[in-house]
Amino acid sequence: MSAYNVTCHACGAANRIPAEREGQAGLCGKCRTALPPLYFRPQPLTERTFDAFVNAYPGQVLAEFWAPW
Ligand SMILES: [Zn+2]
Repeated sequence: MSAYNVTCHACGAANRIPAEREGQAGLCGKCRTALPPLYFRPQPLTERTFDAFVNAYPGQVLAEFWAPW
């Protein structure tokens, strides 16, 4: 089972997030501050879903735009 470490922005504690919890928000195990949902894989978004996803995400987002032509 793979897992990823997420650093809490409030206390700096490393939180181990199992890969199967991708996209789910959690709480810091040390200070209980809300952690943003973590995405391990690129999230395919469309013209209809992009704004809602980016505006709702509490952290930084790296966007790559792609088209078949
Ligand atoms: Zn914390």
